[in-house]
Amino acid sequence: QKFVYDFTEGNKDLKDLLGGKGANLAEMTNLGLPVPPGFTITTEACKVYLAEGQEPPALRDEVSGHLDALERRMGKKLGQADDPLLVSVRSGAKFSMPGMMDTVLNIGLSDASVAGLAAQAGDERFAWDSYRRLIQMFGKTVLGVDGELFEEALEEAKRAKGVTTDVELDAADLRTLVGEFKEIVARETGRDFPQDPREQMDLAIRAVFDSWNGERAKLYRRQERIPGDLGTAVNICSMVFGNLGPDSGTGVAFTRDPASGHQGVYGDYLQNAQGEDVVAGIRNTVPLAELEALDKASYDQLMQIMETLETHYRDLCDIEFTIERGKLWMLQTRVGKRTAGAAFRIATQLVDQGLISEAEALQRVTGAQLAQLMFPRFDEKATTELLGRGIAASPGAAVGKAVFDSYTAVKWSRSGEKVILVRRETNPDDLNGMIAAEGILTSRGGKTSHAAVVARGMGKTCVCGAEELDVDTKRRRMVAPDGTVIEEGDVISIDGSSGKVYLGEVPVVPSPVVEYFEGRMHAGADAVSHEAAAAAGDDLVQSVHRMMAFADQMRRLRVRANADNAEDASRARRFGAQGIGLCRTEHMFLGERRELVERLILADTESEREQALGALLPLQKADFVELFEAMDGLPVTVRLLDPPLHEFLPDITELSVRVALAEARQEPHENDLRLLQAVHKLHEQNPMLGLRGVRLGLVIPGLFAMQVRAIAEAAAERRNAKGDPRAEIMIPLVGTVQELEIVREEAERVIAEVEQASGVRLGLTLGTMIELPRAALTAGQIAEAAEFFSFGTNDLTQTVWGFSRDDVEASFFTAYLEKGIFGVSPFETIDRDGVGSLVRAAAEAGRATRPDLKLGVCGEHGGDPESVHFFHEVGLDYVSCSPFRVPVARLEAGRAAA
Ligand code: ADP
Ligand code: MG
Ligand code: MG
Repeated sequence: QKFVYDFTEGNKDLKDLLGGKGANLAEMTNLGLPVPPGFTITTEACKVYLAEGQEPPALRDEVSGHLDALERRMGKKLGQADDPLLVSVRSGAKFSMPGMMDTVLNIGLSDASVAGLAAQAGDERFAWDSYRRLIQMFGKTVLGVDGELFEEALEEAKRAKGVTTDVELDAADLRTLVGEFKEIVARETGRDFPQDPREQMDLAIRAVFDSWNGERAKLYRRQERIPGDLGTAVNICSMVFGNLGPDSGTGVAFTRDPASGHQGVYGDYLQNAQGEDVVAGIRNTVPLAELEALDKASYDQLMQIMETLETHYRDLCDIEFTIERGKLWMLQTRVGKRTAGAAFRIATQLVDQGLISEAEALQRVTGAQLAQLMFPRFDEKATTELLGRGIAASPGAAVGKAVFDSYTAVKWSRSGEKVILVRRETNPDDLNGMIAAEGILTSRGGKTSHAAVVARGMGKTCVCGAEELDVDTKRRRMVAPDGTVIEEGDVISIDGSSGKVYLGEVPVVPSPVVEYFEGRMHAGADAVSHEAAAAAGDDLVQSVHRMMAFADQMRRLRVRANADNAEDASRARRFGAQGIGLCRTEHMFLGERRELVERLILADTESEREQALGALLPLQKADFVELFEAMDGLPVTVRLLDPPLHEFLPDITELSVRVALAEARQEPHENDLRLLQAVHKLHEQNPMLGLRGVRLGLVIPGLFAMQVRAIAEAAAERRNAKGDPRAEIMIPLVGTVQELEIVREEAERVIAEVEQASGVRLGLTLGTMIELPRAALTAGQIAEAAEFFSFGTNDLTQTVWGFSRDDVEASFFTAYLEKGIFGVSPFETIDRDGVGSLVRAAAEAGRATRPDLKLGVCGEHGGDPESVHFFHEVGLDYVSCSPFRVPVARLEAGRAAA
């Protein structure tokens, strides 16, 4: 087994083995781009190390072999006293992970070689600056010394000299600082800073391996659902120096704007600096465009390379580069993270440029991103005090109480507060706080600072580099230019799309993307066609419009909505729903009608019951007429009454108290007493497993017949009004075909009566929900009596796992997620192996009995991206979800088929 690959040996498709950074360094090397030579230690070596607690025996020799080759090529040896070869040791997993170990630069420098480096470069200051950086980074990341100690010593040196930036420290100052740094290392670790270059390198490699299981890395993986057993690669890359004076520098660049997706020159550049300075936001960078004036040749070459990379990767790339005395070097590239809006814009741009197909474009966006674009945003017309302005780093509208450290962010958010994490700049230790916060505000750093990159990755609102806001984390406060002081706990609002920061809570308005789905030109306007709404919108709305069209062309799954009133149905229709997959009839029994239901339940005689049912019938019918009208021409699946009866009756304790009080006061309470008896009679320990669904229909005579009649009469009325009602009657909670047959017989009789009386053929279909394991297991039999199945995956998940959804999410799911028993709650994303395999089997068995059986799903899973892909795979006909999720489901159904 080969554990080490030279940059010339790998390529971009070897991310599993070489990590993202290593694979792309190899790809760039092979494209002939200027990459400093080096090699990559594979993730396999890391896995062996993590499993056995030591490096694989062959690794040392292999590294030596590659190091020799590198030394020969560079004409100098690692740490050689008179002319040292220096390298960086860089972590790099398959997925980029900000929680991982930082890179250590300048490995190979020592007391012995620092003078050699100075002599070779003709720059004393540079050599000592590089050495102090090595001790600082190595001390912090490899030896585990508290980074603050170095920071403080550096601050102190600047203060003593009366300067504000590190470039103003001269060689002598830095030399003194190196002495202090070495003392810190000796004091904190009980050993001297290692002087042997190879030992430095080996320790750094091991530290990268170890960082895979660091707390921050584990947290990040959980958050991003990255598997825990991939391991990380390690890249050894010969150093190039951006800190060799004003004709040197380092920067980051994007081939397009990762915030908006627009084309142009985006990036940050920092003169006379080493790479980590830019990312850390230590000094303020200049926009990349200014590089043109500083070093035209390098700038032009960089633009050229960016174009090469975009065409090669056919996507937005982000890039790290360094200029060493006028020579450009590429240090990293990858397909870059982007905001949701940018993802949509870029996908359509690349189609227009002919770089990708429409099917590929669909793979470049996600339903989660679309959902993000549908969030409301701040009302521009609201009059609120503007505190200041920063860089729009990650869009969204976030409101919360200002907190100035991650610990407080986590603590407050646990107790239900919404918080905005305010920092001067963030670092990987802030990850917990960033996850807990609604949004992140920093006063330093650009679009590529830690805060910006991580927030974009998490889809969190972020404003960064708001320099005019003076953030004082020690005193837990922030001061605006006009003198306004924001203390911990004061409410602020941040707009990640404009970079604006407001005092207090700013009201929000619907997003333009939602206005588009509503078919409106703008808030408040009347509905028009989607084409017209898109034409009136900005380029983001137009991109969404086009991507939705691609998805609709591509998808096989139909998308319906869960809706039980005409208003939701009309909205769903505007959002592209192709029918209603679930109309719950429960709500039709609530409110003022509750009393009628009480009468029905309490009825002692046939005639009392008939009366109650007779009163409910016209009300139900009117509901259905409206619904069928709103969904004219499209299927509407109406589920007969499902929930346990006690939900319609008063609370048992309240009622007991009322009865007891009336008794004591000797007031009449006959009705309450009867009600109480009924409530007692119906009381169940486990109502969700009790008298509900089809069981109700079988036990309460006339109930289902009344509902069926209401549906049939409503359909007849619509028919007579020249409408096109397409009702489907759905029986819930069936466990055996016998239940269904009994209900079916009665329903058919009622429908025949209505058809007879109205003189129209109604074409109603009858089917069932598959939401009990027994139903799934006997689906072949059930299909004899059902014209359609709708998988009720909420109940099916509850009953397959034996989890009560109402209880377990709050009680032990967190522990399960932490222990990795699930990656995600099975109520959120379908459990493919368990619940999913039942769905698959039931679909097959059902179709074996009845080839034209219509199959759908109506649980929450119908709007969940992952689950939509699964339902596509198992061949269902449609998914049904809440109206707002309909566009997401359409997009994901398109992606599943693309
Ligand atoms: P990260 O994954 O945190 O970006 P990197 O390994 O990319 O870590 O390195 C951190 C910084 O150091 C980057 O700015 C990178 O460009 C710079 N860097 C890494 N290796 C070298 C090198 N050999 N020469 C010069 N700069 C380097
Ligand atoms: Mg990097
Ligand atoms: Mg159910």
